Amino acid sequence: MSGLVIAGGEVLTPDGLRTADIVVRNGTIGDVGGNLDRTGLRVIDATGCWVGPGFVDVHVHFREPGFEHKEDIASGSAAAAAGGFTAVVPMPNTNPAADRPEIIDMVATRGREVGLVEVVPSGAITMDRAGHVLTDIEGLWDAGVRIYSDDGDTVADSGLLRAAMERIAALGGVVSQHAVDPGLSGDGHMHEGTISARLGIPGIPAAADDIVIARDLALVRLTGCRYHLQHASTAGAVALIGDAKAEGLPVTLEASPHHLAFDHRDVETGGTRFKMMPPLRTPADRDALRDGVRNGSVDMIATDHAPHSQEEKDVAFVDAPNGVIGLEWSAAVVNTVVGLDADRFFARMSTAGATLAGIADRHGRRIEPGTPANLVVFDPNTETVARSTESRSSNSPYLGKRWRGVVRATIYNGHLTHDSEGVRP
Ligand SMILES: [Zn+2]
Repeated sequence: MSGLVIAGGEVLTPDGLRTADIVVRNGTIGDVGGNLDRTGLRVIDATGCWVGPGFVDVHVHFREPGFEHKEDIASGSAAAAAGGFTAVVPMPNTNPAADRPEIIDMVATRGREVGLVEVVPSGAITMDRAGHVLTDIEGLWDAGVRIYSDDGDTVADSGLLRAAMERIAALGGVVSQHAVDPGLSGDGHMHEGTISARLGIPGIPAAADDIVIARDLALVRLTGCRYHLQHASTAGAVALIGDAKAEGLPVTLEASPHHLAFDHRDVETGGTRFKMMPPLRTPADRDALRDGVRNGSVDMIATDHAPHSQEEKDVAFVDAPNGVIGLEWSAAVVNTVVGLDADRFFARMSTAGATLAGIADRHGRRIEPGTPANLVVFDPNTETVARSTESRSSNSPYLGKRWRGVVRATIYNGHLTHDSEGVRP
C-alpha cells in the first residue's frame, strides 16, 4: 500500500501542538517530524491546519435497517468522513431496532464493508425500545456493544432502568440516556416559553429534561453504573451533571452543535429545520452549554445526526419529525460559536467520545509514531458557506450559513477518506 505524508500542519502531539510532517504507511503513523523522505508518498498540504485524532461521534442515526430512504450506512459514513470523523456510534432506533446481537453484527459488518469510518453500534436497553422488557444485555455486550440506549425515547420506568444499570455496570458498559420526561413533553413540539406561546405551538418545559436527569443520577448512586447524558439542552443539565461529577459519580455529558449554535428564536424564522428533541431552548441555556464546552463540564460534542427526507420535513411544524443532520458541519460550528484551542477542541471532538465508546486504543489519541492512523486535517481559520452534503437527506439548519473551519482531509485506518478542494495532492 502506498502511503501519505501530511505536510506542514500544527500537529497535536503528546507534548502539545508543534509544526511537523506525518508519514502514514500501512494504516499506521510512521515518523513525525521535519525533513522526512517523501519519495513515493502522496502529499497532503496541511499548512495552517490542525492535525489531530479523527473526530468521534457517539450519537448518530444512520437509519439502516428500515429507513434507508432517509440515510443508510454508506451515505451516513460518507457524511461522517466528509465531516472529519473516523468513528461513529449509530443509535438503535432502526427497524428492526438494534435490540439483539444479529442486528449489531449486521450494522458493524456493513460499516466495515463501506470502510469510510469505524461504525460502532450501540444496543437498545429495552426490546423494540418500547420500555417494557430488557434486552439480552450480556448478549449485546458479547456482540461488541458498549453503549446502551433507547435513544428517541426515555427509559421512563425507574425499576426497569435500575435493573438495566445493575447488569450494564457489571459488564463495564454505559447507559446513554435520551432524557425527556414523556409526561411533561406530552404533545409538545418546541421549547415551552415566550416563542412557543407566540406561535401557539405546544411546548416542552426544560423541567422535562432536568427531572429525568435528577432521577437517573439517583439510580447511578444506587447502581454505580456509568451514565452518559445525550444531547443536553438545558442549563439545568449542565449543573446537575457538574454536581454529580463533583460528587465523584461516573457521568458524562454531550452537547450537539445545534444546541450550541441556535436557540428557540430560530424556530420562528427557520421552521422545521430547527425542530429536534430535545428542542432548542433559551439563549441562556445555549450559553450555559457553550461555557460548558469551554470549561469541560460538557465532555464531548455529538451531532445527533438525524436524517429525514424533504417530504417528511416539508410539512406543518407540529407534523414534522424531530431531528437535523450535522456530521459535516459539527467541527466548523463548534469552532465558530464556541472557539477552543486545539487541546480542548480535540478533547471534545475526538478523545472523550473514543473513551466513552471503548475505542480509545485506536481513536482519539494524540499523534505519535506507531499508533493507528485515524486522523483529521482541520483548518480552523477559513470561512465557507455550507452548500452541500453527502447525506441522503438535507434537513440541515447549517446549510446556507457561513461557518469558520474546514475539514481539509480525513484519514481512516491509513486511507484518505475525504479530501477537500483545498488539498493539493
Ligand atoms: Zn435522543
